[in-house]
Amino acid sequence: MDHAPPPAPVVIAVAEEARGAAGEPVTRYELRRADGATTVARLVGGGSARGGRVYLATTPTWAPGSPPGTWADASLPVSITPGSPSRDLEGELLPELALAVRAWPEVPCTRFRAAVGAPRALAPADDGVSVVWFEERAWPAELSPGVLAQTVVHTDAQGHVYDADIWVNAVDHRFSLNARPGTVDVRGVLVHELGHLLGLGHSADPVATMFPTTAGLRWRSLERDDVDGVCALYPGAGAARCPTSPCPAGHPCVAGRCQRVHDPADVCAPCARVPGACEAAGDDARCVDVGAGALRGAVCGRACATSADCGVGASCVATSAAGDLQCVADDGCAAAAWTCVGDADCPTGRCLGGACKGAAVDAADAGADSARAPDASAPPRDEPGGGGCDCAASGVRRAAGGRATLLLLALTAISSTLRRPWTWPWRRRPSPRPCRASSCRAPR
Ligand SMILES: [Zn+2]
Repeated sequence: MDHAPPPAPVVIAVAEEARGAAGEPVTRYELRRADGATTVARLVGGGSARGGRVYLATTPTWAPGSPPGTWADASLPVSITPGSPSRDLEGELLPELALAVRAWPEVPCTRFRAAVGAPRALAPADDGVSVVWFEERAWPAELSPGVLAQTVVHTDAQGHVYDADIWVNAVDHRFSLNARPGTVDVRGVLVHELGHLLGLGHSADPVATMFPTTAGLRWRSLERDDVDGVCALYPGAGAARCPTSPCPAGHPCVAGRCQRVHDPADVCAPCARVPGACEAAGDDARCVDVGAGALRGAVCGRACATSADCGVGASCVATSAAGDLQCVADDGCAAAAWTCVGDADCPTGRCLGGACKGAAVDAADAGADSARAPDASAPPRDEPGGGGCDCAASGVRRAAGGRATLLLLALTAISSTLRRPWTWPWRRRPSPRPCRASSCRAPR
């Protein structure tokens, strides 16, 4: 099948606009997309890889997996089976997986669908069952050493994926719900690996979730290049978001996305105006003020074009004199994932009007966040360790029930100094994988 990336939008006109509230430069771009529609994008601040990309990152850099493959429509939704527990996540693994699995199907321009299947004690194998497996005893020698996770994709002779197993390296890494120091954000890793599962390789766009390295929470949100990729492989209409599609129990729907209570850096999370403060809401999300008077405080928004992007209960509003459209909860976040009665309910920030908020800033400083430092101009490295990420690919064909099997090894890695053996008594060892070779190459 054709995996050619979609053509990039054509820039029709570029003009400097009036400066923003804090004197930040604002550039207006008029663009024509491949479908002929024209659109306007404003670059607030600008010059940095994160603060200044907005719409201009549309030169596609996403890539199909190697060998390429996609799921046949008849195989959708892809069932993702939790095959093992996680010592780090315990009871939180299933809701985290549920949140991660929603990410790709909720892209508005894709027909790709996935769903979490019933948990089974099932190791990865070429068996037509796609599992997520936390390996906590010994990372298989066939897989690339030290990586965060590795997805093994099996395709048939027609190029259709029929099995994709996500191996998570819990031997060399510790995982968490919030990327606290010494740990890796598990949801981001799952979102990235699910990108491999659906047929994407690594992107060269440093802000994309499919970029081979991560830091903090930045892999959680899909960026423009990720959207271009999944919509090129599976064009169509996206799945219903919450509240139409209910969230896991105990998870509120905030601006069209399910959130964990006190999830950091997502819409309505308390924030400070520092680079990357709202990275879980997307690379163009910003820390904005909500409320008035004594109830005024700072929470994260999410970049938007219209209120339809923001879901029920939130609107797309200009948050600075320069524009800078962000999703802002209509109720000042009083019904979001950071509700409170008093300050003691807020792990960070203060309780203002029933919502935890960060400190508001004077109007004169309102543009500070939009003029963010070029913090992503260099390849992101995770803390701790600052290691790199390699991509290994191996195409091994073998007879398998009359089918040719192509193995895609796609992986990502960061380094970690944490190594701790662990044993789940009930777990059986994975059966030998049909993988005979893997090789490392430098990240793209
Ligand atoms: Zn990867």
